[in-house]
Amino acid sequence: MKLATPEGFAENPELVWEWYNERRENIRAAQPNAAHKAIVDLARSAREFLLVTQNVDDLHARAGTPREKMVQIHGDIFETRCSRCDFKANLERCERCGALMRPGVVWFGEMLDPRKIDIVEEFLSRGDVDLALVVGTTAGFGYITDWATRASRVLIEINPDETPLSEMATQTIREPAGIALPRIVDSLR
Ligand SMILES: [Zn+2]
Repeated sequence: MKLATPEGFAENPELVWEWYNERRENIRAAQPNAAHKAIVDLARSAREFLLVTQNVDDLHARAGTPREKMVQIHGDIFETRCSRCDFKANLERCERCGALMRPGVVWFGEMLDPRKIDIVEEFLSRGDVDLALVVGTTAGFGYITDWATRASRVLIEINPDETPLSEMATQTIREPAGIALPRIVDSLR
């Protein structure tokens, strides 16, 4: 939590980059699991679908979830962007303004990308969806609980632990996503 802040980066950008490069390596070595695959199935079979994920890794994309059906609300760890302007490139310093480049994730204390908020709000504005599945999030951010509860009257929470969303859920499933999600997606066919 200390490194994932604008202050941490200003203090020691090299250390922050070292940490993110290690995280990138770990993610590259990881493989999508049964939950990622179940979400791909759901994205393909549902008439309308939007995945809003707090994950900054690329496992949903690698599993096959189409980019246009996904919002990475906390950013993309494989993106490198300028710490001052909106220039994006895999460089050490911005070729537009000279500031240091940083990972394209949302750090603690930072605002969400308004364009990403717009995608979620636009989707919600089309009306209630049949089902909102809330998977594996601690629901510690107000916007997550807000979107989840506004999306649908039917809210299923999949999480081994209780969260602030649990009492608002129609159903809670206390299992890991890799176990519960494939079963639920199968039952929706
Ligand atoms: Zn710049």
